[in-house]
Amino acid sequence: MIVTFLGTAAANAFPEAFCKCKNCEQARMLGGFSLRKRSAVLVNDDLLIDLNPDIMAASQIHGCSLTNVCYCLQTHPHADHLDLSHLLSRSPDYGTIGTPILNFYASAETLQRASETFERDLAGYSLLSPDAKAWLNLKIHEIEPLQPFSFGNYRVIAFPANHAPKMGAMLYSVESDGCSIFYATDTATLFEETWQAFHQFQMKFDLVILDHTYGPSQPGSDHLSAHQVIEHVKRMRNEELLKPNARAFATHIAHEGNPAHPELVEFASQNGYEVAYDGLVLEI
Ligand SMILES: [Zn+2]
Ligand SMILES: [Zn+2]
Ligand SMILES: [Zn+2]
Repeated sequence: MIVTFLGTAAANAFPEAFCKCKNCEQARMLGGFSLRKRSAVLVNDDLLIDLNPDIMAASQIHGCSLTNVCYCLQTHPHADHLDLSHLLSRSPDYGTIGTPILNFYASAETLQRASETFERDLAGYSLLSPDAKAWLNLKIHEIEPLQPFSFGNYRVIAFPANHAPKMGAMLYSVESDGCSIFYATDTATLFEETWQAFHQFQMKFDLVILDHTYGPSQPGSDHLSAHQVIEHVKRMRNEELLKPNARAFATHIAHEGNPAHPELVEFASQNGYEVAYDGLVLEI
């Protein structure tokens, strides 16, 4: 599996557009890996996790084509993760050619929210209506937590995120060709039922990607902090949920408490994890 990080920032990107805090100024000065777009990943060239507002910029900047994307796992409907105008742009009105059908996977709550927003702001018809499928070259799949499902070469399990309770937010494990990744943003500390489910499904991850909204001197709350990431990675290793050479990466990194990339890498390397950056490609 090839995993490409299209974005690694929390909701307001990093640097945040209007902010002159020390971290944002440092990121602007350093550029490169310290510039973060909103979080999403591309798996191989056909599976996207989160149809977010920055995927086009990411595709252009990092030279990764999205034209073969035919599967999307949507974590939840928050605006930093879901930009529904991407769906509208797939309609014949927009003249797209050679676009494969998009299989869009999300919880019932996420689909309901997305449908309301789509109808209100973009199209005047429901995303869930029979016509939408033909118009948008789209197939919608409602998923349930802890019910494995498969498509193409992938086997997926959705785990409930500890985030935005009424939105059906999900974390995903994706398995293909004997490799397994866990993508976990947005979430606060994982529920005990999620840890139990890891064991029940005998998960052994090659790669885990964890929410790191809050930095080394902040407490976690509705998202994970650096110290909670450290604890989660330790527990995963202790409970043998990671393969021996598994790697753990931070993503969804906010400007308030996280330093620019080099300093955060330094902190992470002393604490048993790594820091993703936009355009990072991992072959696992
Ligand atoms: Zn987010
Ligand atoms: Zn800032
Ligand atoms: Zn969110």
